[in-house]
Amino acid sequence: MAEWTDNLALARLPIADLALLSPHLIAIHRIQGELLFDTTDIVDDVYFPLSAMVNLLFVFEDGSAVATSSVGRTGMISEKVRSNVRAVVAIEGTVAQMPAKMLDTLVAQRAAIAEMSLQQAHALLTHTQVISACNACHSIESRVCRSLLQAADCTGSDLIPLTQQSMASTLGIRRTSVTAVASKLQTLGVIRYFRGQVQIIDHDALQRLSCLCHGVLIGLRSC
Ligand SMILES: [Zn+2]
Repeated sequence: MAEWTDNLALARLPIADLALLSPHLIAIHRIQGELLFDTTDIVDDVYFPLSAMVNLLFVFEDGSAVATSSVGRTGMISEKVRSNVRAVVAIEGTVAQMPAKMLDTLVAQRAAIAEMSLQQAHALLTHTQVISACNACHSIESRVCRSLLQAADCTGSDLIPLTQQSMASTLGIRRTSVTAVASKLQTLGVIRYFRGQVQIIDHDALQRLSCLCHGVLIGLRSC
């Protein structure tokens, strides 16, 4: 049973502030591939992943898309991120949501909620910049490793229900490229892939093979 405090942005709030938010939150189980919103949707809610990981994808005019950030249990997705952005569930799990107008009302009344909202917006912006630079500059292998570490951070588990197709979509690369890296990582004993799930066997080795962006993202604590 998910609790609001499974999301660390909510967990860090003083009890009195969380008590003000709680009556407005609802928890919904989301399956992989489900859209929270698309580029043309009118979005009235903000989202706090409790166990799911949600990718925010920038969508180009030709319909192609690439993930510019991933938000898990330490983050918040505001309706304000929405220019050309699609939010899609990359890892199945629970997401809490509440009306954006109610959050705005509480932001105006409570300093701790206002600070949380501002920190999350800043973290997401910086996260997007890091991922964009990573996509442009770092090797596919190191990005796949970074993506696996990030997924483990987002879900709080080393057993991740993440298909190779989903990872390819997240990274904007071909599935065959993910398959090649996953095969190498399995041979090295770093991960195990079975039935659409990845199990991280050797966390330290995966960190050594990842680009340095994972450490930067950990510092942001947005996911
Ligand atoms: Zn990188």
